Amino acid sequence: MTTERESTPQRRPGGRPRFYSRRKVCQPCVDKKELDYKDVDYLKKFLSERYMIEARRKSGMCAKCQRSLAKAVKKARHLALLPFSPSQKGALPVHYRPRS
Ligand SMILES: [Zn+2]
Repeated sequence: MTTERESTPQRRPGGRPRFYSRRKVCQPCVDKKELDYKDVDYLKKFLSERYMIEARRKSGMCAKCQRSLAKAVKKARHLALLPFSPSQKGALPVHYRPRS
């Protein structure tokens, strides 16, 4: 017979408190700005240096804005207003391989 003991794993005493919930606000909501695919400079604020859309957890954006951001960024990419990747500035895509 086994006695199951509920052992609570102890956190390091004196360690940092688990989650520091930094209250971040949704930037587009604060600015009262609509995310527009033509507003590339504004969109760039929400992209990482690798031109990836920043995660919502990081940017603190609300669901509505995040959605419209994704839409706007994808549209801008399609229209070549934004690069897909940093190596794409006028250069050949990374995965470009000429057929031999
Ligand atoms: Zn918002």
